[in-house]
Amino acid sequence: MQTDFSLLIDGELVTGSGVLDVINPATGAVFARCPAAGRAELDRAVAAASRAAPAWRELGYPARAQIIGQLADALRDHQDSLAELLTREQGKPIGQSIAEIDRGAAGSEGMAKIEIPTETLVDNDKSLIELHYRPLGVVGIITPWNAPVNLALGPMVSALYTGNAVILKPSPYTPLTTLKLGELLKDLVPPGVVNVLAGGDELGQLMTEHPDIDKISFTGSVATGKKVFASAATTMKRLTLELGGNDPAIIMDDVDPKAIAKSVFFSSFVNSGQVCMAIKRIYAHESIYDALCDALVEEAGRARVGNGLDAETTLGPLQNKMQYDKVCELIEQTKLSGARILCGGEIPNEPGYFIPPTLVADISEDSRLVAEEQFGPIVPILKYSDLEDAISRANDTRFGLSGSVWTTDIERGKQVAARLEVGTAWVNMHRATSPVVPFGGAKESGLGRQYSHLGLKSYMEPEVISVAK
Ligand code: NAD
Repeated sequence: MQTDFSLLIDGELVTGSGVLDVINPATGAVFARCPAAGRAELDRAVAAASRAAPAWRELGYPARAQIIGQLADALRDHQDSLAELLTREQGKPIGQSIAEIDRGAAGSEGMAKIEIPTETLVDNDKSLIELHYRPLGVVGIITPWNAPVNLALGPMVSALYTGNAVILKPSPYTPLTTLKLGELLKDLVPPGVVNVLAGGDELGQLMTEHPDIDKISFTGSVATGKKVFASAATTMKRLTLELGGNDPAIIMDDVDPKAIAKSVFFSSFVNSGQVCMAIKRIYAHESIYDALCDALVEEAGRARVGNGLDAETTLGPLQNKMQYDKVCELIEQTKLSGARILCGGEIPNEPGYFIPPTLVADISEDSRLVAEEQFGPIVPILKYSDLEDAISRANDTRFGLSGSVWTTDIERGKQVAARLEVGTAWVNMHRATSPVVPFGGAKESGLGRQYSHLGLKSYMEPEVISVAK
């Protein structure tokens, strides 16, 4: 049992008033135990962050960018041990854990190069009016279990670079790599600037209610996002909500299904479908429908489901029992609905939360698999004959995270992409983020944007300074 984990509060590595047992989803067994925080630790962390914030703010962008660069170096120096721990707690294939840490390091460096200058709005004989941006103070960051490193680094680096202090709470299912991140930060930032508290859902709620936290950056499900929204209202906290999705991919009549199958399959099943911006509904034109189904089934046949620490594994287990049970039930229900299971659909009788990649054809639009966010390795392929109908079915949802259009006619692809009611629409790709490109959801998939100057400014209060001449 691995137990070498600590909370980070006010620059010190400490134990908590509770503990969390952490399960390896590839075995279903507890493999580690870490401390968990309650209200007392949260209050200490928030007080420390409030004390540390003014000096951190005064440090200025270049010095903060330099520290973020040191964090990126530290991530790379510890990449192997962090990636192994990430795979043990999260389940994803080791190569993807390494890539997550790599992307996190590069993304952090990228964000710390963005400039947020004071803007001159009016400069004439009568007045000078400028728009300044100042940090908010203390930012609470709450993350989910599917990509704990990346989803912590994005908001944390945004908050730190713009001059805020941070309280970071990972999911109780995957707290370990985030706690190790805290250990790296302990030696890089002044005490109190970053505090890392593992804890359950109730700790998240306490953060959203806390009067001395100025902003919450929350990544997680729509249902919890709505609770965070309501709770944050009592203290008028600033909010960024990065929530669930039900991304459509529209495959047009002019594509060669074989040429796009690998990319469409990977964008649907990466991390065993546990990605907010994975393809979750495939709309294929009737003229290529059967050929696309065949090509995707061929890709599924090449996938290797197994323990993420095995080098040949391409799809790991579901991350936790709750999600595993939910997806198993969805598969059973889909079978009963009369839809055609093209591949997968059989749950292996072995330890660990493994589900094979499952593709479903001839399924009705109002089935749960199409209407809900499945967040697992089961994806419906729906047929359309009229493009207008495909666009309207793609948009007929309360989700609006992202979507994609696949075609050889780029101009036509862009026109269709512009009609998707989403935060990001891709043409001939799906699932890409960059530190200089805003990411976030339309409709119930979120509020605000992460990354880019747009995301960074959401960690700041705009202040107009108006001078009479
Ligand atoms: P979740 O909403 O159950 O939990 C997320 C976090 O919120 C956890 O840390 C949890 O402890 C905390 N929490 C739970 N109840 C809370 C409350 N009342 N107040 C404050 N915090 C609370 O989500 P999950 O199951 O961990 O993650 C999966 C979901 O996250 C999926 O819907 C997925 O699409 C979404 N997601 C979105 C993005 C994005 O960028 N849009 C990225 C990754 C995941």
